[in-house]
Amino acid sequence: MTSEIKSKGYFGEFGGSFIPGELQEVMDILESEFLKYKDDPEFIEEFRYYLKEYVGRENPLTLAKNLTEKVGGAKIYLKREDLNHTGAHKINNAIGQILLAKRRGAKRIIAETGAGQHGVATATACAMFGMECVIYMGKLDTERQALNVFRMELLGAKVVAVEKGQDRLKDAVDEALNDLVQNYENTFYLLGSAVGPHPYPTIVKHFQSIISEESKRQILEKEGKLPTAIIACAGGGSNAIGAFAHYLDEENVRLIGVEPIEAPSISQGVPAVLHGFKSLTLVDEQGEPKPTFSIAAGLDYPSVGPEHSFLKDSGRAEYVTVKGEEALEAFQVLSKTEGIIPALESSHALAHAMKLAKELTREDILIVNLSGRGDKDVEQVFNMLEK
Ligand SMILES: *Cc1c(COP(=O)(O)O)cnc(C)c1O
Repeated sequence: MTSEIKSKGYFGEFGGSFIPGELQEVMDILESEFLKYKDDPEFIEEFRYYLKEYVGRENPLTLAKNLTEKVGGAKIYLKREDLNHTGAHKINNAIGQILLAKRRGAKRIIAETGAGQHGVATATACAMFGMECVIYMGKLDTERQALNVFRMELLGAKVVAVEKGQDRLKDAVDEALNDLVQNYENTFYLLGSAVGPHPYPTIVKHFQSIISEESKRQILEKEGKLPTAIIACAGGGSNAIGAFAHYLDEENVRLIGVEPIEAPSISQGVPAVLHGFKSLTLVDEQGEPKPTFSIAAGLDYPSVGPEHSFLKDSGRAEYVTVKGEEALEAFQVLSKTEGIIPALESSHALAHAMKLAKELTREDILIVNLSGRGDKDVEQVFNMLEK
């Protein structure tokens, strides 16, 4: 990626689009189509229809009564993205972007995936909408996540194992971008988190904002007031930005993003360009992205959506870190107290909520965004606890 073109889509100094000219043209088209459809009543109706009938929204805002009693202090509510079809928030964005793709007449969807979670959400939506689906995945990742590869294939997707560079996510992204530049007339690149060049962070936030649209209405119905804080884990930052969106202007509501201490992009990163956008990024002395090692595959990313970097700088949101072992503990506590097995990613948010609740009173309300369910993690946790 040689030529750098700066354009719109900035959050303070972060975001933008640092990509070659030919890719920039594709992004410009995508931006104009997004702006055209996002407020179109028919488009909105179609999006809402699939969220209700296919994803199963709206999902509940559950009072975690037993957990609240066990922990003491603030009341803890859980926004139940774990109850969505496919078991996480990623499907909200996959449906939204596929509907955009359909509007522009694309017949083919491509996506990158690391651990496979975004690949599975994309393959799911493609099966339902009858779209051809190609998922790029680093060869090393296809070997480690063989079951997710099979799951995508079962859903009708073609999984391309990328044997370039380090055979990891970054190389899969590069291959997907090459494919997009060559085939953009019939192909749509479905990006999985609030990252990437403009307009992707804005598009993903738009579709994930349904989370806070619902939770705000639900908490007002249940408690007659807004929460003290919203707590969400941040990998690329899509569930967190969706959980924050409708509270950004409510100054009295604290917004807290939780990162694994093993991949603390926001807490310890420096401004740098990775994957075509500028954000807080973990880099080594050579300026190369640092490898990260979170037990939660979805949080294992050395950068973060640019709006989070801005929210940190402006002080509107707070970002904290949690250790893998604390997340593992929270995973077990929620399972035992509430009969809800959370994703290891979501367990990071939960671990912080349990600490914070103790410092507050029963008058305070915490909403934890339970980004996904933990069925996918049970075998890994079994292996970790055996040791
Ligand atoms: C992918 C994933 C995440 C991390 O992605 P964000 O874009 O930061 O939301 C978090 N939780 C679950 C369950 C995931 O699948």
